[in-house]
Amino acid sequence: MELQGICYKMHAGLKQPIVTDQQTCKANVEYKFVLDRAEIDIPFTLGQEVEIEWTGNIYCVSCGNKTPKSYAQGHCFKCFKTKASCDLCIMKPETCHYHLGTCRQDSFAHEVCFQPHIVYLANSSALKVGITRFGQMPTRWLDQGATQALPFLKVGSRRLSGQLEILFGTQVADKTDWRKLLKGEAEPLDLLEVRERLLEEFAPKIQTIREEFSQNIEFNETVELLENELPREFAYPVDHYPEKIKSHNLDKTPIIRGVLQGIKGQYLILDTGVINIRKYSGYQLKLRAN
Ligand SMILES: [Zn+2]
Repeated sequence: MELQGICYKMHAGLKQPIVTDQQTCKANVEYKFVLDRAEIDIPFTLGQEVEIEWTGNIYCVSCGNKTPKSYAQGHCFKCFKTKASCDLCIMKPETCHYHLGTCRQDSFAHEVCFQPHIVYLANSSALKVGITRFGQMPTRWLDQGATQALPFLKVGSRRLSGQLEILFGTQVADKTDWRKLLKGEAEPLDLLEVRERLLEEFAPKIQTIREEFSQNIEFNETVELLENELPREFAYPVDHYPEKIKSHNLDKTPIIRGVLQGIKGQYLILDTGVINIRKYSGYQLKLRAN
């Protein structure tokens, strides 16, 4: 078996319908590869010897032009400098500058930033707080390799969600330790208890932010408590976690080989090291399995 195509981040979905019991909904995560923009079944099975080769070509994920180097996960330099999706405010949503009139692309702001967002708690390598667009559930959590997630606030814009994330970030991490994520399952957490604690502790500050944003009549920038949401739980296809994490780098070693031991977040776990597939968006790859 050999496949060749331009690689994009894997699509993660839930294989089985979510089973609901009193407290949680648990589901198995299923991955698809995306090559040349078409979703395909992962051409590898767990336990199989696989080979991934970079041909040396990179094509911008936005404009499609060939680029000697990848910026911001697969963009050419021109797109990196001009696309709103590559602006710094994408990494730091609280720095959204649309209201200052300096947004790179008005259409992007309307389609993405002024859409309903959620603030969530998740358990990836440990407890974390994060934000995402409402429609990005559960994709965002699966991309992060979270084993538990609980949306707890629904808000009207990206900047508002970012301000709340910063607020909770004083108590809860907003980053995932990817090495720890790939070394095993995180200890289960009582996310409902954390939610209650945070909402109680930050109630006055949430109210202040809510009032500030309610002044904006152009967009519907409200803050809604999601009191009836229950934690979700996710199981990843992993046979074996490595004890030591070695990271493959196609820029330095264009052919990598190893036995596939699992998939979690955007990582393939091989017995020879892990590879972050999303990092190679836009790279033309050859995939082989024995
Ligand atoms: Zn481009």
